[in-house]
Amino acid sequence: MQQTLNTTLLIIGGGPGGYVAAIRAGQLGIPTVLVEGQALGGTCLNIGCIPSKALIHVAEQFHQTQLHSQQSNLGIKVSAPSLDIGQSVAWKDGIVDRLTSGVAALLKKHGVKVIHGWAKILDGKSVDVDGQRIQCEHLLLATGSSSVELPMLPLGGAVISSTEALAPKALPKHLTVVGGGYIGLELGIAYRKLGVEVSVVEARERILPTYDSELTAPVAESIKKLGIKLYLKHSVEGFDASSQRLQVRNPDGELLQLDTDQVLVAVGRKPRTQGFNLESLALKMNGAAIAIDERCQTSMRNVWAIGDLSGEPMLAHRAMAQGEMVAEIIAGKTRRFEPTAIAAVCFTDPELVVVGKTPEHVEQEGLDCIVAQFPFAANGRAMTLESKSGFVRVVARRDNHLILGWQAVGVGVSELSTAFAQSLEMGACLEDVAGTIHAHPTLGEAVQEAALRALGHALHL
Ligand SMILES: Cc1cc2nc3c(=O)[nH]c(=O)nc-3n(C[C@H](O)[C@H](O)[C@H](O)COP(=O)(O)OP(=O)(O)OC[C@H]3O[C@@H](n4cnc5c(N)ncnc54)[C@H](O)[C@@H]3O)c2cc1C
Repeated sequence: MQQTLNTTLLIIGGGPGGYVAAIRAGQLGIPTVLVEGQALGGTCLNIGCIPSKALIHVAEQFHQTQLHSQQSNLGIKVSAPSLDIGQSVAWKDGIVDRLTSGVAALLKKHGVKVIHGWAKILDGKSVDVDGQRIQCEHLLLATGSSSVELPMLPLGGAVISSTEALAPKALPKHLTVVGGGYIGLELGIAYRKLGVEVSVVEARERILPTYDSELTAPVAESIKKLGIKLYLKHSVEGFDASSQRLQVRNPDGELLQLDTDQVLVAVGRKPRTQGFNLESLALKMNGAAIAIDERCQTSMRNVWAIGDLSGEPMLAHRAMAQGEMVAEIIAGKTRRFEPTAIAAVCFTDPELVVVGKTPEHVEQEGLDCIVAQFPFAANGRAMTLESKSGFVRVVARRDNHLILGWQAVGVGVSELSTAFAQSLEMGACLEDVAGTIHAHPTLGEAVQEAALRALGHALHL
């Protein structure tokens, strides 16, 4: 048994929650140890946000070249492209390597001790990593989440999770995605653009069922145009590997056999609470997640939890913000996690952004609000990007015009999420956004125009 290592802060998990907490703690002079069992950067950098966006970029470039090779309105003449998927994956891996090495360098720069290995909890103040005991004053749990598995579709062979889908050795001829949420659709659309025949099976009646149908309609339209087959209100019963057939039940109760050589299970993620003796702490739970208060403190004093482990919304930027806050609290600052809004982005085609309250939310809450939208069909920049579908929508109180929410769907709208989140955090009113000069020609002008429209005087509509 090695000598016990003592530290002030011990973090389990080096994903965006854990590594950001460690960097901030290091900046604040808190002696910090971070334990990571797999790779720094966690799900986000290695098998989530970054690899998926890299693959989406490859797919878009390939798809555009393919379209131009057939018929180009832009006058581009090019012959039909071919794809070396091995090189695409190597390019994606290069980005991941650069980012994860960057995280390692930042941790080193800020004096964080990184231990590679799987942490096993001994008690609320000590952890074992491969025989090394580490003792701390504060234990920060940031173990993230893992893919939900379906009992009738065990992973293995042709049945894969997003992790395998992000590192294909070869592309299947036909991929069936089980789950029409954002991960399933981002990957399904990317595979389709890479030339794969794609089907999506979703138990609910719409794709992206957590967003309203007005917002998801342009995505549904684009999926149809891309030739992705949608099986809505269908439930999966199993996969027969020998015949390569997925059995699904249609809304009439009939069993269908879908031919497919790969099945991607993308039905959600669950907090990672198993396998490291977490249960010994008997922490209060919030469903499958660890219950936390507004300071990310668990039911045990000086045991903190952040990120996906603490439940929805399971997003990297929430994990990072929580991590930064916990480090500051441990350093003695007074902080609470009370964001006005956390942006949720689907990097589908077109992209979709939701920040703050939607028309549905305000209706449920009985708030008297103005809802206004401005279509990209009337935005010059959208036209120059060959995209006219989608809109920006604003939700504001009728009495004082305080903006409560923004939603947008359209090409490149993920970048508008910053303006949306800032306007909400700063308590902007419709007049603030309408009165800000927005650069021309930009998609952002649709944001200003939505605010103007809510005030009754949009200029370009
Ligand atoms: C395909 C995909 C695409 C996504 N795209 C987006 C996106 O575009 N935007 C977005 O905001 N979010 C996205 N997400 C979600 C995002 O990845 C997560 O919300 C985020 O990574 C959560 O961060 P975290 O720090 O809580 O946990 P994780 O990133 O899951 O990190 C947890 C880390 O803890 C380690 N660990 C666990 N247990 C132990 C232990 N006992 N000992 C040592 N180490 C341990 C794990 O190895 C892991 O590295 C995506 C996820 C997936 C799967």
